[in-house]
Amino acid sequence: MKKRRIGVDLDNTIACYERVFEPIAQEMGLIHVRKEGWTKLQIRETLQKKGRNDLWTQLQGEVYGPGMRRATPFVGVREYFFEAAKRGYEVWIVSHRSKRPAIGAPHDLWLSAVQWLNTAGLLRPEGKVLRNRLLLAPTREAKVREIIRIGCTDFIDDLPEIFSHPLFPGNIRAHLFDPAGVAPQGHWRKARRWQELRERTLR
Ligand SMILES: [Mg+2]
Repeated sequence: MKKRRIGVDLDNTIACYERVFEPIAQEMGLIHVRKEGWTKLQIRETLQKKGRNDLWTQLQGEVYGPGMRRATPFVGVREYFFEAAKRGYEVWIVSHRSKRPAIGAPHDLWLSAVQWLNTAGLLRPEGKVLRNRLLLAPTREAKVREIIRIGCTDFIDDLPEIFSHPLFPGNIRAHLFDPAGVAPQGHWRKARRWQELRERTLR
């Protein structure tokens, strides 16, 4: 049997921003303080309802740029990478990120991704994913093309849109990472935790 080659998305799949959007949106003066807190989705909806999609784009530039320092790896990610390396599986990280935000300060978003992965200890030597197996693609289509080019047998992503992209091959096993358990049904298998992904793809 062909050895699995597993591709993994970065943002909101490996890197968790749950506690990043709210404080940065507050620092930028985009939302008021609320006792019950704000989710990323609520912030987006609030800004879009006001017709301020530009502010949402600007916020994302701050979050995925300098704000990425505050992101944390999801529980179980490190163990997953460690076990994959031990068992000889090839793991690639394939991320859709523009090099610079479309609006706002011109942060280097690719650099912040590399720095974050290094700090999180996820790139080799200590972290098991080779630096040259980190691919940053400027568009969704470019990302799907990279997934095809490297010959993934499996792909793990939090966005159903990747799996339903017209170019996404039907023979790649699609694993939708859905920690909140709110994703729609589709031709993907959902997993709420990395532990599940480990059992499903590394055995
Ligand atoms: Mg993602």
